[in-house]
Amino acid sequence: MDQENIDFSDFEQFLLIRYKKCPIHKRLIAYLRLDDKEDPQVIKCQKCLDENKFKSFIDVVELLQSDDHFILQKWPIHDDDTISENLEKIKQWPFAQYCEEVNAIFDEIVEKIQSKRKEILKDLGQIQENQQKSLDYYKQIFQKDKLVNIIKSQFDDQKKQNEMILSIIKENEQNYESNKKQLVDLIYEANKNIFDLTRIKKIKDIVLFFIYQFKIFDNEYNKDNLEQHNNTTVNNNDQSKIIFKSNQLGFNNNQHRFGRNNNKLI
Ligand SMILES: [Zn+2]
Repeated sequence: MDQENIDFSDFEQFLLIRYKKCPIHKRLIAYLRLDDKEDPQVIKCQKCLDENKFKSFIDVVELLQSDDHFILQKWPIHDDDTISENLEKIKQWPFAQYCEEVNAIFDEIVEKIQSKRKEILKDLGQIQENQQKSLDYYKQIFQKDKLVNIIKSQFDDQKKQNEMILSIIKENEQNYESNKKQLVDLIYEANKNIFDLTRIKKIKDIVLFFIYQFKIFDNEYNKDNLEQHNNTTVNNNDQSKIIFKSNQLGFNNNQHRFGRNNNKLI
């Protein structure tokens, strides 16, 4: 057959022109019969099918129009419909959609982590600013620059030097109580927000623990699913599973509490 001249855009036309009609019914051929190796006439018409419901057959036009993963119910396996049903499901498995959803999930996590990082660094900056205020105020009432300057510049006039220093001492005496109060207040402000790196590290360990749970090929998880699949009476308590798995992974008691109550995490 000269394939060059065949217009495959219209398969019905192609079958009409290129194929002989059904030898029994003189109708256009439409099917391939696949369930009887004794029948010498495999190519059948609609009437052949109507008269004799074949167990396995292919609609020729459907076959010609089909994509690379065309799945037929009764061919090549004809005695187990679950195979073609399963293959159809596998074919429909939404890989691109899942990739998109997984990307969206991880984008959200990364975005949350980045915004937390910024928030914590900003808070650290605030603590540093408060601490600096107390140091700056101390430096101001110390009058260090003035004292140094007097020592450096008044070496040839000790009388004047003494006067100048005494004036600073008096000024300090005069403002002593208010300076002291102000300094104590600023120190209190500086120490108010204790930064606890240990707590951040503990949270990091917990976050990493849960990040490690992100996996598709998890034997424990699949085993649990299989148990649930096989045994409907299995205890389906997700929280107890988290605790159980935390135990298996050697998590300490503090972290177990996550399974029972998120608010008691730390
Ligand atoms: Zn026929």
